[in-house]
Order: sequence, then C-alpha cells, then structure tokens
Amino acid sequence: MWTVAWGRILTCDNLKKKSFVLAGWCCMCRNADETVEHLLLHCCVARHLWNFVFKFVGIDWVLPSNVPALLIGWWNWFGKRSSSVWNLIPSCLMWTIWRERNNRTFENLESPVAKVISCFLLLCLIGLGLGALLPLRL
Ligand SMILES: [Zn+2]
Repeated sequence: MWTVAWGRILTCDNLKKKSFVLAGWCCMCRNADETVEHLLLHCCVARHLWNFVFKFVGIDWVLPSNVPALLIGWWNWFGKRSSSVWNLIPSCLMWTIWRERNNRTFENLESPVAKVISCFLLLCLIGLGLGALLPLRL
C-alpha cells in the first residue's frame, strides 16, 4: 500500500518516467492517461467499485484527488471509530483494480465490472478470514 500511496506502482506514467515507450492510456476505460490516481480513484471502473462500496456501507463521500488523501481520510471510519474491516477496504479495492488492469494489459483478459466487484468482495472476505464471514460487520 505504501508503494501506491507514494505513487510508485508501475502505471504507464511511471513507466514513461523510466524511459519505457508505451501508449500510456488507461486500459480500463481507454479514455485517459493511466496515472495512479486515475487508475485507482477516478477511472470509471474504479468509480464503479468505490460507488459500490459507498452504497454498500451507506455513505456519501467525495473521493479525494489522490491516494494518500484517501487513505488518511478513510482510516477508522473517517477518524470516528476503529475498524480493521473498514481499513481493509481500500487495499482490497485497489488490489482488485490492479489485478484487473494487469489481466487486461498482459493477458488480454477483460472482466465485466460485475465480475470485478465480485472479485473485490471475495478478496475482502478472504482478507477478513473465513471465520469472520458472517455476519459481515463494518
Ligand atoms: Zn481509466
């Protein structure tokens, strides 16, 4: 997660800084340059996931412009109460997007958003440990 927060994951913009020559557009939406913030926060696929989470937990929240601001704002229910489950959500969501991005980039495999959401939920449940599955407490 620190690599993401510091903006050091190998998105197209970071690869270009390392002198790699590539198209640079986001393989998720094919509509913008691939940056850390775009891919994990503002891309339409990322927004689908974030909106799913917001709806699932019943909150309205405007996503910050960057990952560190998101992590700081999100932490412990926006600083209101401690919750390891809650704190797990951004990591699972971003890992899900990163995996889907890599599947699209390197394997030419594209999952529909509904499947990406299912993968996210499964990852959250795995992260919680199967014994804590039911009831899911946020
Ligand atoms: Zn995109």
